[in-house]
Amino acid sequence: MKPYREMSREELKAEEEKLRKEYRKYQAMELHLDMSRGKPCKEQLDLSMGMMDVLDSNADLCCEDGTDCRNYGVLSGIHEAKVLIGDMMENNPDNIIIYGNSSLNVMYDTVSRAYTHGIMGNTPWCRLDKIKFLCPVPGYDRHFGITEYFGIEMIPVPMSPTGPDMDMVENLVSEDPSIKGIWCVPKYANPTGYSYSDETVRRFARLKPAAPDFRIFWDNAYGIHHLYDDRQDYLIEILAECKRAGNPDMVYKFASTSKITFPGSGIAALATSPNNMEDILAQMKVQTIGHDKVNQLRHVRFFKDIHGMTEHMRKQADIIRPKFEAVEQILDENLTGLDIGTWTKPLGGYFISFDSLPGCAKSIVAHAKKAGVVMTGAGATWPYHKDPNDSNIRIAPTYPPMEDLIKAAQLFSLCVKLVSVEKLLGEERTAE
Ligand code: PMP
Repeated sequence: MKPYREMSREELKAEEEKLRKEYRKYQAMELHLDMSRGKPCKEQLDLSMGMMDVLDSNADLCCEDGTDCRNYGVLSGIHEAKVLIGDMMENNPDNIIIYGNSSLNVMYDTVSRAYTHGIMGNTPWCRLDKIKFLCPVPGYDRHFGITEYFGIEMIPVPMSPTGPDMDMVENLVSEDPSIKGIWCVPKYANPTGYSYSDETVRRFARLKPAAPDFRIFWDNAYGIHHLYDDRQDYLIEILAECKRAGNPDMVYKFASTSKITFPGSGIAALATSPNNMEDILAQMKVQTIGHDKVNQLRHVRFFKDIHGMTEHMRKQADIIRPKFEAVEQILDENLTGLDIGTWTKPLGGYFISFDSLPGCAKSIVAHAKKAGVVMTGAGATWPYHKDPNDSNIRIAPTYPPMEDLIKAAQLFSLCVKLVSVEKLLGEERTAE
């Protein structure tokens, strides 16, 4: 089929008629499908059921150093968990703090502590007139939710397949001392699936921020979440690169096992420099006597080491790879050549990012909803939910069963076509 823009008014009208008929058929199916959030599906969760067996009432709950995990203590996490998570994050166990069940929680706490008490002796952000964060877009809605909650002004920075626009990042960060941070998902980003290039990571490590308390919030949520064995993205390790570049304290690196074992019941971690660790632990010791060591031990006993975790992630990939491929195939079959949208084809992570014609995303999501398919709200991938082009839509293929996913992706493609035709006909009408 030829691009919609090259069709005559009559051809577009005929296409609209055909698409409307098809859409009505979907409406009659009374679907209730959900492609909105990046959650693992049941089969993925089932892979971790062995975690329930490794600790029972006969289990020895002592760590290698003799610490009884049933009791209070060990503020920064048990050593064997630091080793496992250190391998997962590609960091030295000495640079790691193990937390509770959520890395988002750690990110919130990190912003909150900077806000109320300041970073390493710097003025608390709450005492400053204006605080700003750079936000690569499209990005993760919950990152933007944290900075919005603290009244931090968010500045969008365009993403490309190699990472954020680094000219813009370098200029802004070096000129404006009110810019205190940047949200990054460096690998298999949410929602694009893009991974930062070597050059991008090197330029990040060599930033010359005007603010001494500027920090890179490096959310490595998808560090080992590859879809393929033979095609994987590799990144330069940011902590080591910052150290090499003479900026050892500039980064907080976050990760968790949420999408490795059980979201909400995994373990989260932060890797950072000794100076930052000291700063953080001084607050943490007031906040808690220690996190859930039994869960830390459970994870270590289940995986044994990083090889166990890598093997486990292969099984996860075997479950979700066909889902990504099914969505990509459906988008290809339905939309290629029409020039009404582009989408990413990630090698890992949890999302596909779709860009429609400008001004169509909200309507596409609304049309899908009316026919029973819930997508992530259009605009969610931008700070303040404001996508200036109204074009980005996040597709989350992992959670629905395959059969539902196929229906949902087909309906989504149909909605993209229908809304695009309506837009083009509308444009013609106003031009007349
Ligand atoms: N960061 C990113 C980029 C995510 O996509 C998610 C989950 N969707 C999280 C963090 C949340 O992680 P956690 O469960 O560890 O809070």
